[in-house]
Amino acid sequence: MHDDQALTMGRVTRVLAERLRPAIYSDPRPLELAAHVVDGEPIPVAEGLGAEYAPMSVGDRWGRAWGTTWLRLTGEVPASFAGRRVEIVADLGFDVNMPGFQAEGLVYTPGGEPVRSLNPRAQWIPVSPEARGGEAVEFFVEAASNPVLLDYHPFLPTEEGDVLTSGDEELYRVRRVDLCVFEQEVFELVHDVEVLHQLAAELPEESARRAKILRALNAALNRVDLQDVPGTAAAGREELREVLASPAEPSAHKITAVGHAHIDSAWLWPLRETVRKVARTSSSMATLIDEDDEFVYAMSSAQQYAWMKRDRPEVFARVKKAVAEGRFVPVGGMWVESDAVLPSGESLVRQISQGQRFFKEEFGVECRGAWLPDSFGYSGALPQILSGAGYEWFLTQKISWNQVNRFPHHTFLWEGIDGSRIFTHFPPMDTYNSQLSGEEVARAARQFKEKSVARHSLAPTGWGDGGGGTTREMLARAKRLANLEGSPQVSFGTPNDFFEQAKAELPDPGVWRGELYLELHRGTFTTQHRMKQGNRTSERLLAEAELWAASAAVRAGRDYPYDELDALWQEVLLLQFHDILPGTSIAWVHREARERYERVATTLRGIIADSLQALGAAGEADGLDAAPVGERLALNAAPFPRRGVPAASIAPAGPAAPVSARAEGESFVLESAAARVEIDGSGHVRSLVDLASGRDAIAPGRTGNVLQLHQDFPNMWDAWDVDAFYAGMRDDLDGPADVSLDGDAVVVRRKFGESAIEQRLTLADDGRLLVIDCDVDWREEEKFLKLAFPVAVFTDEVVAETQFGYHRRANHANTSWEAARFETHAQRWFLVREPGFGVAFLNESSHGFDVARESAGRDVVQNARFSLLRAPRFPDPRADRGRHRMRFGVLAGATVESATEAGWALQSPLRAATGTAVPALATSQDPAVVVSTVKLADDRSGDLVVRLYESTGSRASTSIALNGFEAARVVAADLLERPGDPIETTRTPDAVLVPVALRPFEVTTLRITR
Ligand SMILES: [Zn+2]
Repeated sequence: MHDDQALTMGRVTRVLAERLRPAIYSDPRPLELAAHVVDGEPIPVAEGLGAEYAPMSVGDRWGRAWGTTWLRLTGEVPASFAGRRVEIVADLGFDVNMPGFQAEGLVYTPGGEPVRSLNPRAQWIPVSPEARGGEAVEFFVEAASNPVLLDYHPFLPTEEGDVLTSGDEELYRVRRVDLCVFEQEVFELVHDVEVLHQLAAELPEESARRAKILRALNAALNRVDLQDVPGTAAAGREELREVLASPAEPSAHKITAVGHAHIDSAWLWPLRETVRKVARTSSSMATLIDEDDEFVYAMSSAQQYAWMKRDRPEVFARVKKAVAEGRFVPVGGMWVESDAVLPSGESLVRQISQGQRFFKEEFGVECRGAWLPDSFGYSGALPQILSGAGYEWFLTQKISWNQVNRFPHHTFLWEGIDGSRIFTHFPPMDTYNSQLSGEEVARAARQFKEKSVARHSLAPTGWGDGGGGTTREMLARAKRLANLEGSPQVSFGTPNDFFEQAKAELPDPGVWRGELYLELHRGTFTTQHRMKQGNRTSERLLAEAELWAASAAVRAGRDYPYDELDALWQEVLLLQFHDILPGTSIAWVHREARERYERVATTLRGIIADSLQALGAAGEADGLDAAPVGERLALNAAPFPRRGVPAASIAPAGPAAPVSARAEGESFVLESAAARVEIDGSGHVRSLVDLASGRDAIAPGRTGNVLQLHQDFPNMWDAWDVDAFYAGMRDDLDGPADVSLDGDAVVVRRKFGESAIEQRLTLADDGRLLVIDCDVDWREEEKFLKLAFPVAVFTDEVVAETQFGYHRRANHANTSWEAARFETHAQRWFLVREPGFGVAFLNESSHGFDVARESAGRDVVQNARFSLLRAPRFPDPRADRGRHRMRFGVLAGATVESATEAGWALQSPLRAATGTAVPALATSQDPAVVVSTVKLADDRSGDLVVRLYESTGSRASTSIALNGFEAARVVAADLLERPGDPIETTRTPDAVLVPVALRPFEVTTLRITR
């Protein structure tokens, strides 16, 4: 036979696009259109429904950036539509290629019932499944004219990303608003043809199955009259019945489709718009659940449900009903899909405890797995945090975005820094927005790394970000793909169902040890520094507020501020969302986040002051503003004793270590009993000597405290990415500087480009730690500022603090995996060390860093660099420009233990206090075991909760002293504070001692009944 396959493929492509799809709707009748343009921010639904409307016509422009326009659609169903399914087709000027990134609407009945979302991929409103004819039609649409910020020429700087700078131009033009007959048989024909056509495109050209499918498609199109598609669709379908009925091969890959919409909690739109995006998508999904018995939809983020409950109760009621039926499935259990490397360990715990509590209280549901498809890398602390919170599985797909290396597994056990393992799946389709196209399902089967031993994968299915979620077209594809020869098998199910099947078929999965580093978006450890600083300040103040409020409750009987602390935690957890804390949102989002962080800090300082007052004490200003402490009462909020003040207490401080600052010729010297620092006339550190060992940290012939400026213009994703080639253009800021003495500090002032920096170098922390306070006026564009210390330490790895422990990362480039990690992140410190000597680099709020190995004769120098500031122009054209205060520390002669301690001290300085001494509630007897959290229990029983972890990577056996209160019963609890086994305690005259034995990096929670 002659081969006509290519001809048939081309025929189907054209007929589908130009004849079959347009024939799904017939007999269009224009509706009357009227509009109410809202002045400013969105208004309540009732107000929108009751507003004054002015006539509007198809072809009219509407919608300035970030505006809201209420539309009213009215008309009457013609008598000729009787007995037919009738829908409205409303095209408000949509671009089908950009669902979620442009105009969207939520359709309401005149009575205020939410109907469904109106968006580029679902431009329809159901009117009647079987019209009578003659009935009146009236709908309202709350339409948002969000501007397109990421379009066909992506990453161009734009002023549209903030309502304060966006333009007045109306961005959209109404194309049609018609009442139509929905031709069900044509819809079915379209999907029969499309699914087979897409399958044929994936099959080998020589395959018999492909030839048979194309022959059937050709025959089907021969039966369809292009001038009367509705009248001939059934005949066309008849020709396809046999090829559609041929079942899948026994070894076919199986895909569990999970209805989903990845809705970023803020990104290229402000937080308030996310509330509406969630309401729109959720109403569509509730409607789809009503219409299709097999459909299951999963939505993460307690915050998004809480928003609906607060602002769109009519939508929330529908969601709640669908959750009760098991069809609308809360997943992930977290407050938001947070960043997974930058938040503290306690924050990650609270993401889960706050999220799970909401799901439990609202729906009686506990999520069994973590759902973070899009966060930018995953800390090696997560397996322990997730399993310690009772999770059974973890899902992401983001590592498929790696620039260089392909990850070796899709279903595997992920082992954390402490050895905890969690069953993990990466959907091999490499997307969280599947449409169930032939190409996607074939890709999943083709790429699935465990295919020799397993056959199940998961596909999050639906348009995200307000694009509307899962569509009826996706369901139509899934039904045809359920059991189809040549294709993977697709069926809808819940994530828990999938994970049960995946575990059952893969009893002995492969293991990936350590962090899941994303080889992309490496700028997010640094971009929008004020986000990082706001988060760290909030985390520190939250810990302190809980500590002193718990102390006040236990020692002074004061009420514990449960509601206030919950609200503050939820605010901080929201801002840890994976486009806010990483610094990758529009200007509006970051402006609002800065204001929110200010309010959080003010409220927390109030709680701390009130709690201290109840204890008869008061503390002075905290953080970067803390004044030096004399020999008097001092407040120590850190979990380590300092200057005679025990951890987490208020007590008289011992004398500060004497430090001298003096000029010596051209240089300046800072000196204490522990360290000697020499700073040259250009403000660079010529030597940094640890006097105990006599070792100079600075490499011979080199200087530290050198600012280095790089051009920073990545190929894509400006706020997210720093590409490896950035290192090729480096400008060392070694020009003249103004260096002077000011008390016990050396002050270095330097100008560069349009910017200026003042650095204040002091010896703090008992004279051992070189502290560098930076005050930067940053006015560069597309530059990356680093602060370099070339140190004389021989090693091929860097130790970097993460949540509840540390990562160890090779810092050579032997393999592509190591080479791709040219910029990484730390919590409070990173450390380069050789046996007997190490240098720690501490930050108060800057996570990004790199350590490059540089040849120096036969020696190797570690050029350790803090990442200070970036200046991307998309999506916030002025990201990071302006004034920044940031604090760094360099500790010569450091170990993991001293770095951990100094990291805490740097961000939480000892501060002056007045009033009476306050003893710590709980104290660790071993410095390696850190008491990181002291609070009252979430269940409001009044129990004290103490969280602690082993910080050094060794086994520990010690005891926790509970001081000066009656501890009736102590039990070990999980991270959600659920009680486990009781612990036998012993008593001393002043304390109850709780024995604890910890594995390396183990986190444990004690629950103490008073
Ligand atoms: Zn996302």
